[in-house]
Amino acid sequence: MAKRDYYEVLGVSKTASDEEIKKAYRTLAKKYHPDVCKEPNAEEKFKEVQEAYDVLSDPQKREQYNQFGHEGPNMGNGFGGFDFNGFGGGFEDIFSSFFGGRRSQSSTTSSARGRDLKINLTLTFEEAAFGVEKEVTINRYETCPKCSGLGAESKSDVEVCPKCHGRGRIVVEQATILGRIQTETVCPTCGGKGKVIKNKCPNCGGEGRVKNASKVKIKIPSGCQDGQGFRMSGYGDCGMNGGASGDLYINVTVKPHEFFERDGLNIYIEVPITFSQAALGDSIVVPTIHGDVSLKIPSGTQSGTKFKLNGKGILDGRTGNQGSEFVIVKLITPTKLTSEQKELFTKLSKTNEKNESVFDRIKKFFKGDK
Ligand SMILES: [Zn+2]
Ligand SMILES: [Zn+2]
Repeated sequence: MAKRDYYEVLGVSKTASDEEIKKAYRTLAKKYHPDVCKEPNAEEKFKEVQEAYDVLSDPQKREQYNQFGHEGPNMGNGFGGFDFNGFGGGFEDIFSSFFGGRRSQSSTTSSARGRDLKINLTLTFEEAAFGVEKEVTINRYETCPKCSGLGAESKSDVEVCPKCHGRGRIVVEQATILGRIQTETVCPTCGGKGKVIKNKCPNCGGEGRVKNASKVKIKIPSGCQDGQGFRMSGYGDCGMNGGASGDLYINVTVKPHEFFERDGLNIYIEVPITFSQAALGDSIVVPTIHGDVSLKIPSGTQSGTKFKLNGKGILDGRTGNQGSEFVIVKLITPTKLTSEQKELFTKLSKTNEKNESVFDRIKKFFKGDK
């Protein structure tokens, strides 16, 4: 089943305030609470509401959700990612507010997925156009090299937890006004791992992982755009107790170019031409990202005319689509004339006068004798 939009789940707008989100959550959580609601899918609905609230009530998670949707970092897709425990977190205060009691936190998995990480990468115009491989340094948790993630000095230092006998959870029974409630809870002795360590690894302090500044090679395909995001699966923090690694999210910024402008895979450039080039026609040299090419300007070219250079745009490395370059010629009106040029323009203006003036044509148009 496709996941519903979190805002839709809570019935609030994308711009809803924290207060509105909290209010919507309280109303829905009360409505669908499995101990109260008799609808067959109450528990699922309750969990859906809980999950939506968990994300939207956390400013950081909310921002990531707005940007990446359900696929975003820390959105809990994939193994063990979402730290959902049905009756914990935001639920507790509600429970106490309308049942007058507290319910112990339910299970969390002993293995935990590593956190997703996010970095920004700035590329030059050319790097984005042609694709690039960049090496970046990322501070992330990696499996402890001394104990290979075991967390112990040696294998014999790891023992089955005597309290939960390796299950990682224990069942507790509580008397409430609704009767006796049995809940499973994380074993307090081993913290859900099911194991205890006699002598912890001195390098990681028993955590099985250590923070490390790692060099990561990022391959950006050609044709990537400003604001585009990439995900490198498994390049985030490493997991705990056998949990999967998080992902690395890369947000690309492309620096503008001095002359080229980009629209998708097409490139635009303005090239100045002189009055005589426009009038008489000429062959000019224009830059493209693939090198200089010569462009024929026909006689009588107007300022602002656009010429297309097929195949001289950006190649999208993933789709194989190829853009073009568009050259827009701008007529440069001379501001300083030599006496010789002045003479030539004067001669030219006299030849212009022989032609019918625009004013004459307008007059004729309104008279109706075109
Ligand atoms: Zn235990
Ligand atoms: Zn270690």
